[in-house]
Amino acid sequence: MLQKLMSMGVMVTINQTIDFDTAFLVATEFDYEIEKASSEEDILIKAQEKKIDPNKLRTRPPVVTIMGHVDHGKTSLLDIIRKSKITTGEAGGITQHIGAYSVETPNGIITFLDTPGHAAFTSMRYRGAQITDMVVLVVAADDGVMPQTIEAINHSKAANVPVLVAINKMDKPGADPDKIIRELADHDLVSEDWGGDVIFAKVSAKAETGINELLESILLQAEVLELKANPEKFASGHVIESRLDSGRGPVATILVRQGTLKIGQPIVCGLHSGKIRMIIDDMGKNVNNIKPGFPVEIVGLTGVPEAGDEFVILASEKNAKQISEHRTQKSRAKELSKKSRANLEKLFANMGAEQIEELKLIIKADVHGSIEAINESLIKLAKEKVDIKIIHSGTGTINESDVSLAAVSNAIIIGFNVRPSLKIREMVKKENVDMRFYDIIYNLINDIKIAIKGLIPAVFHEIIIGTAEVRDIFVVPNKGTIAGSFILDGKVTRGEKIRLIRNGVIKCDSILISLRRFKDDVKEVTQNYECGLSIQKYNDIKIGDIIECYKTEEIKESIME
Ligand code: GDP
Repeated sequence: MLQKLMSMGVMVTINQTIDFDTAFLVATEFDYEIEKASSEEDILIKAQEKKIDPNKLRTRPPVVTIMGHVDHGKTSLLDIIRKSKITTGEAGGITQHIGAYSVETPNGIITFLDTPGHAAFTSMRYRGAQITDMVVLVVAADDGVMPQTIEAINHSKAANVPVLVAINKMDKPGADPDKIIRELADHDLVSEDWGGDVIFAKVSAKAETGINELLESILLQAEVLELKANPEKFASGHVIESRLDSGRGPVATILVRQGTLKIGQPIVCGLHSGKIRMIIDDMGKNVNNIKPGFPVEIVGLTGVPEAGDEFVILASEKNAKQISEHRTQKSRAKELSKKSRANLEKLFANMGAEQIEELKLIIKADVHGSIEAINESLIKLAKEKVDIKIIHSGTGTINESDVSLAAVSNAIIIGFNVRPSLKIREMVKKENVDMRFYDIIYNLINDIKIAIKGLIPAVFHEIIIGTAEVRDIFVVPNKGTIAGSFILDGKVTRGEKIRLIRNGVIKCDSILISLRRFKDDVKEVTQNYECGLSIQKYNDIKIGDIIECYKTEEIKESIME
């Protein structure tokens, strides 16, 4: 058998496990058929998955993720709800940041995931864990539906998780909840008042109004979902966060989905096993057991699991260990096969008479969640004609190493909500690297789609007219913030589009509404001159910010293709 395997190019020793496909091939060589048996793991875990007994099902708290555009008040809302936990119940207590917390209201308990935004939601879903029962979409009443609002809607839709809308910042003078309701209706979130089925709550995290109504609405939505669990079973659920604690070893925050978790029980969690030595709740208190729908920290695992990993409690420690060993072996085999496949691809590319077209990308984005989302959409695209390979991705702005990587590997750089410095732009030009910027995933995917169809050469949609640096700030009554700026490159022109960039990340995309040299209003200011400028509807300008003045130009041929 080893010889046959070797002749097939599979180098293994007698102690090594081979995957099903390889086993199938080698068996065929000997004229045998093979059949897939359930793995030990399946047998052990399934053995305790007894039939669902409807009489034993109890309602469990809903698990809620808060999403929405940056600065619309996700963190503020989470904080204010957390604070209410302390005032209602545990006097003098301080909640611990363990990744999730639950609050008790007169009508029921709700568990909130403590990391707002898409990042946690998407990365867990990416790992196959559907933890969230409901998404609370936060939209600022004085702003509107923004790119990340739309992304949050799309994430929720893709995950098939119901959305409840919290219109925040109702205390602000410019609050216009009707506008938000109208805009969201365009994205299939139709309010109950309009004949739809989406619950809208009007809140202010600052003035602390509407919070109880929001919690009530969440529970109302939960009732519709009929979230039930059997507390009598062995516990199972998912990891939300994990870390290595210098004193206590691996610590994982888990969310119990089914059953009751108890001290002393054997557990398998991802690749690791162990025995529950300590259970700590979100108030930092040691507890002996925990029911479905609640988050806790556990101590006692042999290694640090990953967020999104599943855990199960087992009857015996031996079984737990066995499963963990089996999984570790499987994951090693997977790593090995990954490596050899990459080499194979290279081989094909070099040997094939016909050149295999491949699109290599480097993706830099402001938040990790965007990368995950782009990744997912690209994986779907990759099934078409051309292979898409993301050779590197990361959060933060585009830097020198990205450009050199792109140059050596002939990759395209994609900046999502980030912009590089002038120095990097020059390097890009010199190295003749293709670099594109987006702030909406749809546009990015669409461009790549077009590119795949004919691998059309680079099409630039925007032209940067000039770049300025903010050197001083003046706040003028009735006028807002004026940025005393120095033009580093090109020129800035009144009425044109501008972007405010801080540490490489786009903070706002707006219009240059006023431009002055000394006391005079001017139309434009050119390189090496100073000016005072202000941005339409945006005052959060800081010294050191970069202002980019740009034009967008439609290049017709590419669209006609
Ligand atoms: P996140 O980025 O969505 O987590 O937003 P934050 O919670 O950090 O809030 C962004 C800014 O909006 C902060 O300066 C908050 O103080 C402010 N903010 C949040 N909620 C409210 C509110 O209800 N009313 C007002 N006026 N400001 C708010």
